[in-house]
Amino acid sequence: MALVNRSDESVLISFDPATGKEVGRVAVSSPSEVKDVVERSRTAFGLWQHTSFDERRSLIMKARELILADIDGIAELISRESGKPFGEAIAMEIVPVLDLMQHYARHTKYELKPRRISIGLYSLLGRRSRIIYKPWGVIGIIPAWNYPFTIPLGEAVMALMCGNSVVIKPSELTPLTGLKIGEIFETAGAPDDLVQIICGSAETGEALVDAHPDKIQFTGSVGVGKKIAAKAAETLTPVVLELGGKDPMIVFDDADIELAARGAVWGAFCNSGQSCSSVERLYVQKAIATQLTDRIVELTKGLKQGNGLREDVSLGAMSSQRQLDLVKKHIENFRDSGAEILTGGKSSGLFFEPTVIAGATNDMQGMRDETFGPTLPICVFETENDAIALANDCEFGLTASVWTKDHAKAKRVAEQIDAGTVCINEVLYTHGIAQTPWGGVKNSGLGRTHGREGLLELVRPQHIHTNRFALLPDAWWMPYSSTAVKTFRDLAAKFASGSLIRTTTMLPRLWKRLRELKKDRT
Ligand code: NAD
Repeated sequence: MALVNRSDESVLISFDPATGKEVGRVAVSSPSEVKDVVERSRTAFGLWQHTSFDERRSLIMKARELILADIDGIAELISRESGKPFGEAIAMEIVPVLDLMQHYARHTKYELKPRRISIGLYSLLGRRSRIIYKPWGVIGIIPAWNYPFTIPLGEAVMALMCGNSVVIKPSELTPLTGLKIGEIFETAGAPDDLVQIICGSAETGEALVDAHPDKIQFTGSVGVGKKIAAKAAETLTPVVLELGGKDPMIVFDDADIELAARGAVWGAFCNSGQSCSSVERLYVQKAIATQLTDRIVELTKGLKQGNGLREDVSLGAMSSQRQLDLVKKHIENFRDSGAEILTGGKSSGLFFEPTVIAGATNDMQGMRDETFGPTLPICVFETENDAIALANDCEFGLTASVWTKDHAKAKRVAEQIDAGTVCINEVLYTHGIAQTPWGGVKNSGLGRTHGREGLLELVRPQHIHTNRFALLPDAWWMPYSSTAVKTFRDLAAKFASGSLIRTTTMLPRLWKRLRELKKDRT
């Protein structure tokens, strides 16, 4: 069943993965329309960049009020387009983005305050340096379908607070949720063309990259991320890439087993495992392996799966046939490689049962490639070093978690894991904390969203340097002479040491050189 069909070149149909029914249809933007959208966005940026932080904050807070007033309506739309449970749409999309909106509306001004830089001994020469932060211009946002509201909206809010304009190309699986973001800003009174939404599939995303926005924030697969980076490199357009994950959860034998079991079940199965930071590999220490596995299986068997609009459903449908087929392939590979399916393993329509797998090892496909489905493969380890080696034996590095009551061990292990975020006795949810940086290492991507690091991706730092005693030429200017070269040697040995005491011993030579330069001027 193809869930997204184009009935003709210009229309995209969005389907409810739980029922197969149409949710709505939207017009596809042609490449020339996309070009026009980016041009208009640049015009909107021309005015928006000069607005005060208070004006920007007022727009974001109005948009926030509109979301608060329609929580259920928005959650229903997200659930119908993506298949995720209605409650999860509130908890994992609307709550975090509301928090992000209030945070950046209030704090961007302080985070981006112009800043004096300490320039060491140069300040004795009357020099001052300052950094100011300027917006890039048009930010092109290309998100995935799995968090179709919180990811593009959160990125747009941060971009707008920094003074940029935005063009969002939502996933072809969730275009109506994308259009909802545009509608919210329009109702909130955003200036014309400040926030524009263009709909379509890969071709529309390519057209957005070709239209040369000033920066691209992409969330999606590694393959597409690399293609976008290659194309963007032709025009030196900077990119932030938020890509896939294969996140490990390490449970030591001194962990709280009940908490770890519940964390593993939520971390692996929320959003039907379609989170970039889902638990995709669980490593458990031998002494508690049976106990933890049994409890995970018991909890998993108690989960209700069904139409995400029902409040008592914990797992909804998967978002697409492509995704379901990949999960099936990984399950078959686990079976063929000798792992044991303890519960789950079957599908019906686009529903795939939450599946727990024992006897997994790192050479199996489902332990190496991103599954992005409701699977929880479990692998047993013996020592701390084994756990670290197993976790790092992977091409991805988005998030990881370490579970133990020994905080010194937790910290020691966390610091050795190659990942953008490592949680201790916690799992998956830190994308929801707007203040903390989000992003991965290795094939999980480039750059950061969220946190101060995320804000800095959305501005260009400009260094302003002033010579407050602009009376004489600098000692290192032309013309050169033997006095000049002796002065330069002194600069190397004394001034560049950073020591004030050593530098003062070269003052007579410096004075001679300055007099020489002064004489040359007269
Ligand atoms: P995808 O790469 O297929 O598509 C992502 C977006 O790119 C969509 O909007 C799509 O239309 C667009 N696109 C596709 N081809 C394009 C091209 N050639 N040029 C420009 N745009 C193009 O990914 P997906 O299936 O939508 O999402 C799943 C992936 O996203 C998973 O790998 C998941 O881990 C990742 N993801 C990562 C994060 C993160 O923060 N690291 C968050 C969510 C999802």
